[in-house]
Amino acid sequence: MGKNSKDKRDVYYRKAKEEGYRARSAYKLLQIDEQFDILSSDVKKVVDLCAAPGSWSQVLSKRMFTGIPEEDRGKKIVAVDLQSMTPIDNIICLKEDITAPSTLAKILALFDNEKTDLVISDGAPDVTGIHDLDEYIQHQLILAALQLGCCILKEGSGKFVVKLFRGKDCDHLYAICRNFFEKVYVAKPRSSRATSSEAFLVGIGFKKPVSDWEPKLDLNKSVQEFFEGVADFSLYNRTGTINQPEFIACGDLAASFDSDATYDIPENFKELDPVQSPKNPAYQKALELKRSGKLKAEGSKE
Ligand code: SAM
Repeated sequence: MGKNSKDKRDVYYRKAKEEGYRARSAYKLLQIDEQFDILSSDVKKVVDLCAAPGSWSQVLSKRMFTGIPEEDRGKKIVAVDLQSMTPIDNIICLKEDITAPSTLAKILALFDNEKTDLVISDGAPDVTGIHDLDEYIQHQLILAALQLGCCILKEGSGKFVVKLFRGKDCDHLYAICRNFFEKVYVAKPRSSRATSSEAFLVGIGFKKPVSDWEPKLDLNKSVQEFFEGVADFSLYNRTGTINQPEFIACGDLAASFDSDATYDIPENFKELDPVQSPKNPAYQKALELKRSGKLKAEGSKE
């Protein structure tokens, strides 16, 4: 394959480099916004979970700060990831694990008891290949994001977006989320490959399942314990069928590209470098070993 083959194969990858985004994921958030208006002008406080390398934070920074006079701002965006992020204007970055209750406490403290308008999470664990374990970790990320959402979102208007991989166990997640939002959707942006089970759960209008529930983070409780006894998590509705959220394909179908298609690249195409290389990627050590000729194939006796 040629050096620029990824540019040829993946139109969103190429577009991201042309438009200065650190990752093609930026278009997923933009297309979700096209459909659900999650970044409307009244959005002032946002938490971006699992944010590295930072393309969603770049979208937030641009949309919430460009052309807004200093005095009208009062805005805050906090981005969190296990990996360190190269700074982005207007974004407070935390290098933390979102499944640790202490991280949620740090985020809450940064907002000084003020409620937020939006919590988004594009989290994906490093895949182990053990399907059940991978799915379990993914669900822990989602529940941690939801727990934070419950503690920090504005009642009535708070919005929530979280990545999931559609599978049989998602019904439980839908059942849990339905308790906390007026409307729950599963969105599939055009920039998310149709061949991937990736989708985004979108919750609109945060609500408490019972009016006297005061969601409080307790550092000694697991995320499961946080939700225990709070709401109705049954999968079935009164007629005995599973209550599925509405599925919405988003991103202007006429104007956006198909992420599974290969497009011709222009004659005068010039390959661009990635906007931001990862700071400390997990594969760094392997690369160093390879460069120094010390990387041995698995099972090799030498
Ligand atoms: N939204 C990002 C963007 O636009 O650049 C891309 C996010 S990337 C697909 C998934 C991220 O989830 C990775 O950076 C990974 O480090 C992060 N992640 C996975 N598990 C995490 C955890 N427990 N706590 C914090 N971040 C986590």
